[in-house]
Amino acid sequence: SSGSAGTSGTRFDLERETELRFEVEAGERVQLELLSGLAEVFGSELNRNKKYTFGPGSKIAVFTWQGCSVSLSGTTEVAYISKDTPMLLYLNTHVALEQMRRQAEKDNERGPRVMVVGPTDVGKSTVCRVLLNYAVRLGRRPTLVELDVGQSSVSVPGTMSALCIERPADVEEGFSVQAPLVFHFGSTTPGTNIKLYNKLTSSLAEVFSQRCEVNRKASVGGCIINTCGWVKGSGYQALVHCASAFQVDVVIVLDQERLYNELKRDLPHFVRVVLLPKSGGVVERSKDCRRETRDEKIREYFYGFRATSFYPHAFDVRFSEVRIYKIGAPSIPDSCLPLGMSQDDTQLKLVPVSPGRDLTHHVLSVSSVDDDAEVGAGQSRGILESPVCGFIVVTAVDTQAQVMTVLSPAPRPLPRHTLLIMDIRFIDLK
Ligand code: ADP
Repeated sequence: SSGSAGTSGTRFDLERETELRFEVEAGERVQLELLSGLAEVFGSELNRNKKYTFGPGSKIAVFTWQGCSVSLSGTTEVAYISKDTPMLLYLNTHVALEQMRRQAEKDNERGPRVMVVGPTDVGKSTVCRVLLNYAVRLGRRPTLVELDVGQSSVSVPGTMSALCIERPADVEEGFSVQAPLVFHFGSTTPGTNIKLYNKLTSSLAEVFSQRCEVNRKASVGGCIINTCGWVKGSGYQALVHCASAFQVDVVIVLDQERLYNELKRDLPHFVRVVLLPKSGGVVERSKDCRRETRDEKIREYFYGFRATSFYPHAFDVRFSEVRIYKIGAPSIPDSCLPLGMSQDDTQLKLVPVSPGRDLTHHVLSVSSVDDDAEVGAGQSRGILESPVCGFIVVTAVDTQAQVMTVLSPAPRPLPRHTLLIMDIRFIDLK
């Protein structure tokens, strides 16, 4: 059965509490229009008679509480209506969280801190988006904490961040990211450096708690924490660590009973652990698909949404102008560690990187740390705890001239001169 909607547009009539699911084919675009009734995409309301465009690879659900008619034009890979969605359960969860916010308001307490967990491709980010949208639509100011270093919805991959949500997500572009707090992690899986991952989780929790102390709305709004799909071994331990660092009140486990039971066993009894089903609409993404999404996210950082809004700059940076570090030395056997040093120390160590040709295409975070901050032998204090103020990509290295050419969102000079190297590469095809 072909989901091709043709160019004129195909009309879909949806009954209440059903959703239209569609996927956009590679190289295609699909336009969606709400003809009548009310509908939302992942918790953001659609405006009537406005055309929304979705790019290649988009996987979308248009849900309606009341019933609606929509039209789709362009080539979809699939397009079908489903009556079987967990949206009512997600709404009930939102209602319970809102109850907690009201209570917090009354008792001068803090609002709910929620952690969303589950294996990959169960719709964690989507559930976060729905819950945040519903909260902000009621005038709340929840914070999104993004710990998924592989597929961040806030910043480039390889980062961990927090974003105060002030308006519903744009249907096409997602949440607007003004002034997020971003930390450099450096790779797309927490396992590369679990010590650093846990440390940055703690840093984010600390900053969030400080903000809650001075900002009542942020405190009542609480937070929704999106996590990685790695739920075994150290990945599981990282979830337990996160729950304690943020002092979460609620954990939403999507789709995995074993994980649910483990967390119920291991978290303090006052933490409410809830098991929710995943939506049948969530599509499993291939490795390639994930890589493309990551690439797209980096491209978006430099060129803006659909590569149309920003004009990045290319300029040369002398090696002598910058200091480049990698966080974490390769681990060495315990027996070889110098006296008094632990593996923790090696994972959090700053290792100076001498610029060479192998820097080409790497993404570098520009640390906000003071340029003249002392960085002693392997001392990382200050740099690890400092947020990132932007990213550059090395597009060429000239070892003879001792310069590298970089792609940067802003013209020269670099705002700061301490750079942290990511494992992640980006090839700018523009
Ligand atoms: P996770 O965070 O668990 O990896 P996501 O929330 O990113 O999963 O969802 C995976 C993909 O499925 C995303 O592209 C998302 O847009 C899509 N998706 C989520 N829910 C639905 C749905 N109900 N119908 C169609 N696509 C969906």
